[in-house]
Amino acid sequence: MFDLLIKGGTLPDGSVADIGITGDTIAEIAPALESTAKETIDATGDLVSPPFVDPHFHMDATLSYGQPRVNASGTLLEGINLWGELREEASVEDMVERALTYCDWAASMGLLAIRTHVDTTPDHLRGVTAMLELREAVKDYIDLQLVAFPQDGLYRTETGRANLLRALDMGVDVVGGIPHFERTMQEGADSLVDMCRIAAERGLMVDIHCDETDDPLSRHIETLARETLRHGLGGRVAGSHLTSMHSMDNYYVSKLLPLIAEAGVSAIPNPLINIVLQGRHDSFPKRRGLTRVKEMQAHGIAVGWGQDCVLDPWYSLGTGDMLDVAFMGLHVAQMTHPEEMARCFTMVTETNAQIIGLEGYGLKKGAKASLVVLDAATPTEAVRLRPARLAVVAKGKIISRSARGDATLSLPGRPGQVRRRHALP
Ligand SMILES: [Zn+2]
Repeated sequence: MFDLLIKGGTLPDGSVADIGITGDTIAEIAPALESTAKETIDATGDLVSPPFVDPHFHMDATLSYGQPRVNASGTLLEGINLWGELREEASVEDMVERALTYCDWAASMGLLAIRTHVDTTPDHLRGVTAMLELREAVKDYIDLQLVAFPQDGLYRTETGRANLLRALDMGVDVVGGIPHFERTMQEGADSLVDMCRIAAERGLMVDIHCDETDDPLSRHIETLARETLRHGLGGRVAGSHLTSMHSMDNYYVSKLLPLIAEAGVSAIPNPLINIVLQGRHDSFPKRRGLTRVKEMQAHGIAVGWGQDCVLDPWYSLGTGDMLDVAFMGLHVAQMTHPEEMARCFTMVTETNAQIIGLEGYGLKKGAKASLVVLDAATPTEAVRLRPARLAVVAKGKIISRSARGDATLSLPGRPGQVRRRHALP
């Protein structure tokens, strides 16, 4: 007898299966399981997916939009300045409270693993203290991975480097950086050499805010790939944003992409944010600023969609729904072929899990029993509808339920109910 049985759901690969859960583990997954269960969810006709994963977020700043003021120019730099004021005002309790509220939203959307960058610039490191407390508070339902992120640069402040090391000593998981924000191109490159060495020595992963600029000559990704190769860190290093690649010379990119592939560096574009922050210095034509997603994937580079921000100094919207992220990414990267649309769903689930090194992930026997039941028939339909999460299961426990998104129609001669589903040929 199982503790929980998810009956008759359609998996992302199109197969239909029952999923039997015992404790916090998937005990069996097969087309028709005979065993009974203490509790059963009927998922017939609904999509059952492993949970959504966000590989790039800023939990210390979330739900702070308008504090201390709104970002009037809409630029990355004004956002950084506003955050610089807010992080001196916000207490540990403020940050934990805002982040816990966000985690409630995430849990309700089936977003159960999040890599969040935490600012290590201020000497008080209150953000680090808050996020370590949060990681512990949500561990039964959200896997939170923390990146030590020197927002103002590793070298631009006197204690930038020392504070990053202090944060790692306190238990932060991943080494972060922002080379394009250092004083010079050379110092940016030096910071990457330094950070990759720190990661190699400590056995940690690396995730860099890399080339988040429209400057086509911002080429820090090249150094990141080189240092990844030098230390054998392949598969454990991510370049977030990489927006300058949008504007780079095509010949240079033809040399760069094989290098990134050879190094095993993955890429995390953040389409909601990149489409609003980039191109702000352009008149017309105005660049989109999203990195070259399909082109990297064609070279075998792992690319996952990240969310980055929800209601903070950089972004005035956001919901915690990774399908919003996939939807925007699909549009901006023009991933409209059926295979590409389905891939956008895989990017916010399996690919993101792979990029952040999540263990026990997936719908298979022996994996962690975390999953989401969606009011959609297929992954592509889920991206199109961004539908209700009918049930969210985290480590064997049902943590959220939502009603279907059906509408009741009052139109003569037409059906009384409408669900907006549509089977594709
Ligand atoms: Zn970021």
